Amino acid sequence: MRAAYDCDVLVIGGGIVGLSTAYAITRAAPGTRVTVLEKEPGPARHQTGRNSGVIHSGIYYRPGSLKARYAVRGAAEMVKFCAEYGIPHAVTGKLIVATDRSELPRLHALVQRGRENGIPVRELGASQITEYEPEVRGLAAIHVGTTGICDFVAVARQLAHGSGAEIRYGTRVVRVARRPDRGVAVLTASGDIVRGRVLVNCAGLHSDEVARLTGDDPEVRIVPFRGEYYELARPDLVRGLVYPVPDPAFPFLGVHLTRGIDGGVHIGPNAVPALAREGYGWGTVRLRELGATLTWPGSWRIARRHWRYGAGEMRRSLSKRAFTEAVRRLLPGVSESDLVPTAAGVRAQAVLRDGTLVDDFLIREGACAVHVLNAPSPAATASLPIGREVGRRVLAAL
Ligand SMILES: Cc1cc2nc3c(=O)[nH]c(=O)nc-3n(C[C@H](O)[C@H](O)[C@H](O)COP(=O)(O)OP(=O)(O)OC[C@H]3O[C@@H](n4cnc5c(N)ncnc54)[C@H](O)[C@@H]3O)c2cc1C
Repeated sequence: MRAAYDCDVLVIGGGIVGLSTAYAITRAAPGTRVTVLEKEPGPARHQTGRNSGVIHSGIYYRPGSLKARYAVRGAAEMVKFCAEYGIPHAVTGKLIVATDRSELPRLHALVQRGRENGIPVRELGASQITEYEPEVRGLAAIHVGTTGICDFVAVARQLAHGSGAEIRYGTRVVRVARRPDRGVAVLTASGDIVRGRVLVNCAGLHSDEVARLTGDDPEVRIVPFRGEYYELARPDLVRGLVYPVPDPAFPFLGVHLTRGIDGGVHIGPNAVPALAREGYGWGTVRLRELGATLTWPGSWRIARRHWRYGAGEMRRSLSKRAFTEAVRRLLPGVSESDLVPTAAGVRAQAVLRDGTLVDDFLIREGACAVHVLNAPSPAATASLPIGREVGRRVLAAL
């Protein structure tokens, strides 16, 4: 019977979530044959390799949510994992800084939330901010001690290696057939057929499309939001990680200053609509994918509800001067010439038909299939617990 399958578990997507799932399954059930199919020539070419590289503490997320639980646990596990395998990382702590009086109640609410999530936070007055960051200005701030930075691409590579899974790069899944009681068979772009007992969909920016290929209705659409970054030509202006107070209407954290593991300082990401799922610049347009966004009623509802915020983000995307002005609220010493454009990322944000931006991680099951339909930030931080949870559901299905 077993020979009828090429593997037990077929994972689509070689980002950090798919690889962590493969790793968790082979740890929990040694001998399980896992195959990962990844369309790119290597791991972590999309969200996992194009992010801020921050190990999030979990301070922002609703107590009890998957994000809160998995981020807090995942951050500690990620630090341990990096230490164990010699992956570059550091626990740096970070500042969240209010620059306007209207942000003070929200900053205070974050202190409460941090405490509810069991995260140590220290409240700072304006003059104490400069003890941590001499060039940063604000009215008040909080210091979160457990935030860190790491190289998520190296983590993904280690998960791939440590899982013992067969990983087929350059393998795009184009069709899925589910056979009652006989598992799944996928067709790849090169015409190969791979059969497995259970399919795991960790396709990130394409996860809703892959769910539909299996015949399951994901009930969400992935709406791609690009996050653009600049590199700071004078990295001495920033010592560590500095974040604004986020707008609770959005699951994005706002443009932040991040000294990465390579010592460089990145400024970003903003959030603008991408014109393709992997649309890393305004010039990349894929009409079919854009059509999928525009025909989803939720996209129009977001546009109607948040047009003012969106217009500001677009202006800061198209005008470096406007972007610099926004950054100067936190870092007054920065000028336009200090900002050098660098690689952007695109977030896979699941949106409901009614325009709700899905806030929590979303994992759904179908027959012989587990779909990860919303794994935005902090899913890289939380990837080890997410992988275990997906793995648990897969092993139950087996
Ligand atoms: C700008 C930005 C900043 C972020 N900052 C942080 C941060 O600081 N800290 C943090 O914890 N998180 C952060 N995140 C979130 C984090 O990067 C993601 O949550 C995480 O990488 C998601 O991993 P994934 O494996 O689900 O997706 P991905 O890394 O996108 O992997 C999905 C994979 O599926 C493959 N695939 C898709 N379709 C197919 C197919 N048909 N066949 C085969 N393969 C397919 C893709 O090629 C891709 O490699 C950030 C994200 C962005 C975009």
